[in-house]
Amino acid sequence: MQRIYFDNASTTPMHPEVVSVMTEIMNGTFGNPSSIHMHGRTSRSIIEAARKTVAKALEASIGEIFFTSCATEAINTVLKMAVENHQIKRIISSPTEHHCTLHTLEFIEKTHHLPIIYLDVDENGNPDMSQLQALLQEETPTLVTLMYVNNEIGTMIDLDVVSELCAPDHVFFHCDAVQAVGKIPVSVGGKHIDYLSSSAHKFHGPKGVGFFYMNGDSIIPPYILGGAQERNMRAGTENIYGIAGLEKALEIQLNRQADTYAHILQLRNHFKEELSKLGDIQFNGNQEDHFMPHILSVSFPPSPKGDMLMFNLDISGISASSGSACSSGIENDSHVLQAIGHPAERKSIRFSFSEYNTMEEVDQAINLIKSILE
Ligand code: PLP
Repeated sequence: MQRIYFDNASTTPMHPEVVSVMTEIMNGTFGNPSSIHMHGRTSRSIIEAARKTVAKALEASIGEIFFTSCATEAINTVLKMAVENHQIKRIISSPTEHHCTLHTLEFIEKTHHLPIIYLDVDENGNPDMSQLQALLQEETPTLVTLMYVNNEIGTMIDLDVVSELCAPDHVFFHCDAVQAVGKIPVSVGGKHIDYLSSSAHKFHGPKGVGFFYMNGDSIIPPYILGGAQERNMRAGTENIYGIAGLEKALEIQLNRQADTYAHILQLRNHFKEELSKLGDIQFNGNQEDHFMPHILSVSFPPSPKGDMLMFNLDISGISASSGSACSSGIENDSHVLQAIGHPAERKSIRFSFSEYNTMEEVDQAINLIKSILE
C-alpha cells in the first residue's frame, strides 16, 4: 500500500516543475548574484524575476519584497527589528500563534522589557476583535502580530478588519501568512499591513527559502548583518535555486488556486461527513466561515484506542500530525489546543491536505480510523 500524506500544513511535496526549474539552474547557473560580471548578472536576474512575481501576487512593489531562509527568519527579523526601530512600547498578539512568533515575543519581553498582550481567543481560536479595537484606542506605539491562518486548526482572522483596526499611525501590523500564501489570494494592496511573512515549502516549493513584505513606509534595519544583499536588508549570498523554486511554486499555485481550493474543500467536507458518522467526533476551529479547508483538526473522544490512534495511523501508512507537543515522552495538548480549551482527555489529530490528495485516500483513511476505533 502506498503511504498517504495528510500532513501538508507541516510541509508539502515539491511540484515536479519546481524540481525541474531548480535542477536546471543548479546545473547551469552558479554565479554570485553580487558579482557584476555576466555570471553574477545571470544569477541576479533569477532573483529579480522571482521578486517581481512575488510582488505582483501580493500587489506590492518590487522593492518591498525580501527573501529569507524561511518564515521563522522573516518573523524574527520583522518583530525584533520593528521593536528596535519604531520605539514600540507594547506588542499585541494571540496565544495561538506559531512558536516562531511566541518564542520571539518571549525574547523581546525579556530583552526589551516590553509588555506583550495576548488577546483572548474564543473556543474556535478567533482573537477578540473588540479587545483589539479597545486596546488600539490608546495612542502608544504598538506592534500587532497576528497569523492569517492558524496552522493547527485552520481558523482565519478577518484580514480586512484587522488591517482597518491597525490603520492609525501609532500601530504597526505584521501578519504571519504562511498558511495562506499560494492557497488563497493574499494581497497587501490598499490594506494597512506593514509586514507579512511567508515560506515556500508550505506551497509546494523548496524548504529553506521564504520572504517578507515590508511596506515602503515602515522600513526597519536588517537583522542579519554582513554584505549588501537584498538591498542591505538581509546579508548572505542568496539561495538562487530556492528563490527560483519559490517563484515557480507560487506561479503554479496562482494559476490553479481556485481549482485546488475547491478540490481540497471537497476532500475536507467528505472526510468530515464520514468522520461524523463514527460517534462523538468533534472538529477544532471555525467550521462555517473564516477557516482554511486544507487543515482539519479532529478531536476524538477519550479511549485507549484513541490514545494510540496517531501511532496506529502511522504504522498503517498514514502520515498525519498529532497537534501535540511532546515533552519528556509525555504527550500534552499543544498550546493552541490549550488556548481554545480543548479537553485534555480527548485526542486531537490534524489532517492537512494538498492538491495531490484524492478522495480514495480520504476513504482509505476513514476505513482505517473506523477499524482502529472499533
Ligand atoms: N508560521 C506558521 C503559521 C507556520 O505554519 C510555520 C511552519 O510550520 C511557520 C510560521 C514557520 O515556517 P518555516 O518553517 O518556514 O520557518
